[in-house]
Amino acid sequence: MSSELILLVEDNEANQMLARAVLELNGYRVAVAGSADEAEVELNREMPNLILMDVQLPGRDGLTLTRQLKSDPATARVPIVALTAHAMNGDREIAIDAGCIGYIAKPIDTKTFATMVGRFLADDRLVAQ
Ligand code: MN
Repeated sequence: MSSELILLVEDNEANQMLARAVLELNGYRVAVAGSADEAEVELNREMPNLILMDVQLPGRDGLTLTRQLKSDPATARVPIVALTAHAMNGDREIAIDAGCIGYIAKPIDTKTFATMVGRFLADDRLVAQ
């Protein structure tokens, strides 16, 4: 069984490198996209098991892309978790409204990040049964 693929949509290079390193250390394969356009290229290459979606992206923002992916039958079933720099009250609801299954606050906590990602993957498997 090949390892699960995570698509990381994040425009900040330092955040990309940190999240990728933590995920790869935990056995995941990682595709990185710096924009919504790049994310669509990656989605055409291989459908990921989970998308980590930065809310604030240059151009099309992460929640706009999330709504588009959720309305497209080809990508609607891929679980999306928002990455938000502002873990304020209300952000979770906004992300859920857009179609995300949850959110992870940035900066990521390297001690808990992989566990949280694993939990979202497991939740999705539960829902898919
Ligand atoms: Mn950003």
